[in-house]
Amino acid sequence: MPSRKRLLVLGSTGSIGTQALDVCRRSEELELVGLSAERSWEALVEQARAHRVGRIALVDEHAAARASEAWTDGEVLGGPEGLVRLVVESGADLVLNALVGSAGLGPTVATLGEGIDLALANKESLVVGGELVTALAEATGAQIVPVDSEHTALHQLIAGQPPGAVERLTITASGGPFRGRARSELEDVTVKEALAHPTWAMGGKITIDSATLMNKGLEVMEAHHLFGTPYDRIDVVVHPQSLVHGLIQLADGAMLAHLGPADMRIAISYALHGGESVDLPVAPLNLAAVGELSFEAIDLDAFPCLRLAGEAAREGGTAPCVLNAANEIAVHAFLEGRLRFLEIPEVIEHTLDELEREFSQWWTADRRDALRGGFDAVITQRST
Ligand code: NAD
Ligand code: MG
Repeated sequence: MPSRKRLLVLGSTGSIGTQALDVCRRSEELELVGLSAERSWEALVEQARAHRVGRIALVDEHAAARASEAWTDGEVLGGPEGLVRLVVESGADLVLNALVGSAGLGPTVATLGEGIDLALANKESLVVGGELVTALAEATGAQIVPVDSEHTALHQLIAGQPPGAVERLTITASGGPFRGRARSELEDVTVKEALAHPTWAMGGKITIDSATLMNKGLEVMEAHHLFGTPYDRIDVVVHPQSLVHGLIQLADGAMLAHLGPADMRIAISYALHGGESVDLPVAPLNLAAVGELSFEAIDLDAFPCLRLAGEAAREGGTAPCVLNAANEIAVHAFLEGRLRFLEIPEVIEHTLDELEREFSQWWTADRRDALRGGFDAVITQRST
């Protein structure tokens, strides 16, 4: 039997993580070498036992201590450094990063820095550190394969085309639970209503991002970094059935679409099996029963998060990072009942404006001249 691919799953207790373990359980090709979670140590130890894994990491030190008392068949690493050690000492051929939020950037950098291929569900890594992450992958030769239904679709569609043939990318958005509502109808929505996603079952943060449409904004940045496509060639369209995941447009005007059931195991399996299609227990689409595929424009007035993300993306620099940080804090506050739904974009916009104002006050003519002088000195030194 050919040697199996050594796989490390980060964030294995989450929505993507547990579905990835289901894919692994069915695959002859994959060998799990490590698992991680933030603090849910009981679930992680159970996974380690079920999958006979020798090493696990828990970011929460207290949880790590509890796990090492309860589980003596392997090694438990603790803290954010433990998570990085799990990556760099794993000897893995592939790391699945299924952490949520900007906490995923460290493990992404550790993986690519080691030259290990990365199956990337943690889109926030690319939002906050896109240039750094893609430059690192290029420098070490590690591959980044997306785990996100729209980006998996685009990856597969683009792979079938000669270089330069693709003119535009389109990613679809379900529209979330509040599709079709006007802004005034979103004032009093509850956490429970926002968590009731019509087509996908996912972790809490991304489900709220889907209700505000921030998720699509993050995904546009994800696509930009993954495929090197300029922002003015990436489109978003609402498609409530969530069956067409992505489309590419070719020079002659033809569009190719990727369709499939709304089951993340398809995207996960694609990334874990190097882009190969393997057997999954997913019922194929019955198009006659589906009946209708519909598409709508986005309502940016009701869902300003997508506009804010677009502005931050075009501005570049630290703006996407600030946007993402403000969004993480605001979504967390909304989930805890400390913020109203429409206050999420308000917090983000205010944070972006404040930081820009502070920066423009700090960025005086003196500072600019001093910095320019410094650059000139370095360049003169290099050229002599
Ligand atoms: P989740 O909340 O269900 O799971 C997150 C996992 O990461 C858990 O194992 C948790 O223990 C761990 N974790 C959380 N915070 C951490 C921290 N600070 N440090 C270390 N570990 C931490 O999230 P999810 O829905 O599985 O999403 C994971 C990522 O995949 C997100 O970036 C999300 O946008 C992306 N994604 C998810 C889906 C989906 O269907 N769930 C689809 C597309 C993309
Ligand atoms: Mg997606």
